[in-house]
Amino acid sequence: MNELRVRKIPQRKCVTCQKMLSKKEMVRVVRTPEGTVELDPTGKKNGRGAYLCGRWEGFQQAKKTRVLERALKQPITPEMYEQLESQFAQIRAKYEEVPCEKFGDA
Ligand SMILES: [Zn+2]
Repeated sequence: MNELRVRKIPQRKCVTCQKMLSKKEMVRVVRTPEGTVELDPTGKKNGRGAYLCGRWEGFQQAKKTRVLERALKQPITPEMYEQLESQFAQIRAKYEEVPCEKFGDA
């Protein structure tokens, strides 16, 4: 009976390493209704979202491969990337512990 009450933790896939992680271990990137792309540390902003596992290397790779643009179906200007990068830099310490299959040595 008890197993019925066990809630599955919602998981999301990292767009760079394809790893499935719980939402709170990930960084959400959101395409706002205004057509900008920003980080959504609270996970509550409206709009189409994509998830990154939070590794700095993963973000850099996403930028290089434009995988976020494909996931969000939205062109990301260099200015938006600059803003994302500075937002990401502020929170990256929180995610350094999260292993990433592609970039982690964990
Ligand atoms: Zn990843």
